[in-house]
Amino acid sequence: MNVPLTPTNGGCRGAPVLKERGQREVFCGLTGIIWLHRKMQDAFFLVVGSRTCAHLLQSAAGVMIFAEPRFGTAILEESDLAGMADAHEELDREVARLLERRPDIRQLFLVGSCPSEVIKIDLARAAERLSKVHAPHVRVLNYSGSGIETTFTEGEDACLASMVPVLKDTTARELLLVGALPDVVEDQMLSLLGDMGIENIRLLPARRIDETTAVGSNTVFALTQPFLGETHAALERRGARHIAAPFPFGEEGTTAWLRAIASEFGVSAETFDKVTAAPRARARKAISQAAEVLRGKSIFFFPDSQLEIPLARFLTRECGMTAVEVGSPYIHDALHGPDLDLLPAGPQIAEGQDVEKQLDRALAARPDLTVCGLGLANPLEAKGITTKWAIELVFTPVHFYEQAGDLAGLFSRPVRRKQLLQLEAA
Ligand code: SF4
Repeated sequence: MNVPLTPTNGGCRGAPVLKERGQREVFCGLTGIIWLHRKMQDAFFLVVGSRTCAHLLQSAAGVMIFAEPRFGTAILEESDLAGMADAHEELDREVARLLERRPDIRQLFLVGSCPSEVIKIDLARAAERLSKVHAPHVRVLNYSGSGIETTFTEGEDACLASMVPVLKDTTARELLLVGALPDVVEDQMLSLLGDMGIENIRLLPARRIDETTAVGSNTVFALTQPFLGETHAALERRGARHIAAPFPFGEEGTTAWLRAIASEFGVSAETFDKVTAAPRARARKAISQAAEVLRGKSIFFFPDSQLEIPLARFLTRECGMTAVEVGSPYIHDALHGPDLDLLPAGPQIAEGQDVEKQLDRALAARPDLTVCGLGLANPLEAKGITTKWAIELVFTPVHFYEQAGDLAGLFSRPVRRKQLLQLEAA
């Protein structure tokens, strides 16, 4: 098997990190419900929050109007917030009504919000109580999607971490793949690993609770998303071992991720090459077409989705871009180290945010493309800076070989559009 090349000028793992703790411009963790409710087909997400939380969910997930939704909001009224009503009793009534009406629900997540945290509703206690009432048909768990001190992908992390303690124990040698992927992408991943002869694969989250997943000291796990720090810690507490690898974005990242798993399971170099050769070639071809316009261009990442480091690695190494600054809300060495190793030295690596200072740096650098949250995109565009919305990267299938060209395309489209506008204006 080939070993991925480390950059000739050294990677970024040891680079000085600019740590910022100031005003942040990010969505809250409730956003994760939008993709989690599609993935977990027998789950319901009940946000215990205010009308603001309900509006956020409804506008972000407006496309769901044709289906019976698998999320909702138990609205905290002013009387709850003033401590005049017993929020626990109301919650119990709300849950009973919901579960009576929806026998298809097998997992119920009580999702905390800013208001429920401010008035300190103990959702862990509520989940325990409701689990006893509604077991064995329904499992009730809780996590926080609050916007205080969090970023939007932490919602998925908190949700998956809440599931780890209730996973059954196992002593079996199993591979646990962690992170919510669109079904079509998940199927591709399972097919590649299956073709290498790797068996006993479990998924977190699974599509349905019946496909129960277990964990123990013989479990090895690989993350498919770079924002699962809490889940990583929770799995290690259960004795599972993490297979560290770059994340499966682009041809190179996908190959390195698969190779790390293949090495763990003793897959021969010959089998590995046989399984990956054709999709690798397809991915390389698709990337090179989509990335033509990106070569030699500069990119600046605001901290938002926590995908920034692996994407900077992909864009610099496989699309010929130069990273000016790579900001990430959090940097975990165990998760991001392998991607930092491969990211060529040069960009400012930043953790956390002080948005005004970062805007000043972006405006001074005038990058060809800036990846940022929705709130920053318009002001930056108004100043002539081309932007890409970070949230789109989480909603679009971008992992593994067959999506590698689409991933490059997400970045090349705004650059191409800018070029066309400039041509028209000239
Ligand atoms: Fe707003 Fe907090 Fe509700 Fe998120 S959880 S919508 S930040 S009030």
